[in-house]
Amino acid sequence: MIRGLVKLRGLDPRFARVVQYCLEKADEQGLDPVLDYGIRSHAEQAVLYQRYLRGGPKAAPPGLSLHQYGLAVDVYAGSVVRNNFRYDSNQDKLRAIFLGAGLEGVSGDPPHFQYPGAQRLLPRSTRRPRARRR
Ligand SMILES: [Zn+2]
Repeated sequence: MIRGLVKLRGLDPRFARVVQYCLEKADEQGLDPVLDYGIRSHAEQAVLYQRYLRGGPKAAPPGLSLHQYGLAVDVYAGSVVRNNFRYDSNQDKLRAIFLGAGLEGVSGDPPHFQYPGAQRLLPRSTRRPRARRR
């Protein structure tokens, strides 16, 4: 039984299909995958970003995360969850499955996988563009 499958709900359906395929493959390999995060609201992202600023796990500012668009997931190997989120070779094997299926990773964020190329659709920053003088 793959944990967190309910979190496929709300994801872009094509993305969700690839994620499910990867989760099943990871399960077959005995990696005991856990889908920890699928879609997030703006408010949830804001909480995670504040936590990141205080030394928590990596999180993008609200508005700049593909999680808010149903185009990103966070998936852990079961052993990582059991060891208080210490990464091990099972996470590397899990990562190889997701990246091998064509999804994108982000450096410094081992459980995160996103729809390839979609990051380019997001603004670079939440800051308002400076008014141009004419
Ligand atoms: Zn993520």
